[in-house]
Amino acid sequence: MPNSFKKPVRVRFAPSPTGRTHLGSGRTALYNYLIARQTGGQFILRIEDTDRKRYNAESEQELIDSLHWLGIEWDEGPDIGGPHAPYHQSKRKEIYQQHATQLIEMGHAYYCFCTPERLARVRQEQQKRKEASQYDGTCRLLSKDEAAQRVSSGESHVIRFKTPTDGTITVRDHLRGEITVENKNIDDYIIVKSDGLALYHLAAMVDDHLMGITHVIRGSEWLPTFPLHAHIIRAFGWQEPDWIHLSVFLKPSGKGKMSKRDSAQLIKDGKSIFLTDLRSLGYLPEGVLNWTALMGWSLDDHTEFFTLDDLVNKFDLDRLNPSPAAINFSKLDHFNGLHMRSLSITDLAERIKPYFLEAGYEVNDDKLLKVTPLLQPRIITLEDAPEMGGFFFEEEVHPGPESLVGKKMTPAESAEAVQRAFQILTELPEVNHETAEEPMRALAEELGLKAGQLFGILRAAVTGRTVSPPLFETMEIIGRETVLERIRKAQETLAEMVD
Ligand code: GLU
Repeated sequence: MPNSFKKPVRVRFAPSPTGRTHLGSGRTALYNYLIARQTGGQFILRIEDTDRKRYNAESEQELIDSLHWLGIEWDEGPDIGGPHAPYHQSKRKEIYQQHATQLIEMGHAYYCFCTPERLARVRQEQQKRKEASQYDGTCRLLSKDEAAQRVSSGESHVIRFKTPTDGTITVRDHLRGEITVENKNIDDYIIVKSDGLALYHLAAMVDDHLMGITHVIRGSEWLPTFPLHAHIIRAFGWQEPDWIHLSVFLKPSGKGKMSKRDSAQLIKDGKSIFLTDLRSLGYLPEGVLNWTALMGWSLDDHTEFFTLDDLVNKFDLDRLNPSPAAINFSKLDHFNGLHMRSLSITDLAERIKPYFLEAGYEVNDDKLLKVTPLLQPRIITLEDAPEMGGFFFEEEVHPGPESLVGKKMTPAESAEAVQRAFQILTELPEVNHETAEEPMRALAEELGLKAGQLFGILRAAVTGRTVSPPLFETMEIIGRETVLERIRKAQETLAEMVD
């Protein structure tokens, strides 16, 4: 086993479905999944939806679809159940309340009745004094009896964690080593809101404990509250999991984190950080996985092609890079191309078919199987397929007259070249790479043309495009009769231009 985790781990991916699923979530899920599969452990999907105002059911569906698309499957989760169900935090309210009460009883948490107005005033005064904004501890001083009485009389309240005021706490992140903070710098964070729902700080710690999570792999945005989390776990007397905080993603420029505006701009530019967008843009899940796996991890300084199985075998948490990683879309194209070329023809044909249909082509499966090998080395995304090969499924093509005039040639010269080409091709029993290429090259030479000049005219005539897969392989698929018919039409068009 390549990493230091030898025993089967229990890990979880615990998203809050409040928006679209992006690369960062995909990568966190992937790393968790890999380490679970690698050690023969379990991977759990837990939906952290206690923030009911921000929760969005569509986001949850999009998340599940995105993970399925990537091929990341979980062993326990809201849709499949498991020994620690329910896996929606919103359905575990009582569990958190019970634990919050336990913390209060143990003297590690307290009820707070401060109004938002009072808290705002405290904050303002602290700002004036240039102090860090923290709760001033007023309700910490209330007696248990008084607090209990105010709660039972129905006074609005939250529950805060009672962070020690002196001393330090040392926590350990697997990638960053030990981190020591002074307790006085840790706020008395709210752990249960006034609506009775627990916040992440409590809910996630309780769930991680009850669900037997051994390793918490999460985003580094949780580093600032990491000491609080350790305090909560230690207050309960539980064993801490191993902590791994992943690096953040930076904008493609490498300058700062992605903002909402940045992601909207990317979409305008035909790129996206959202997984379902990458799917509709025609990226392969294999390419996206390979790309994201290497944003923050590497096996060595040269291996770049990984399937999901390879990653399960070779992924190593010890080789994660804690520094931020800039999103690089040309690398995505690169990895997608690699995976595109590694697919079998039938697999690729099946995957490009919907893109042809979507673009309005009627697809004949036999023909598609012939076309696919020509497209495979040339397309980067599945969406490129109809663009590059749509003409194969067109009854007729309509090349613009200008496109039939060869580069640096006159219409008359082009007309002559096409006429001669037609004569030669018409005498061939078959038109394909073996039979047609040599005579066409010879013809170009005889006419004092570069092969590219003649081929350009023929390409436009036969495909209606200026770019296509190799000309003679293309002609073979289109078929001799149609090829000759299209060249004859091109001849007519050029003749009209000459007149
Ligand atoms: N719900 C948290 C989030 O989406 C999960 C963090 C974690 O993995 O613990 O950021």
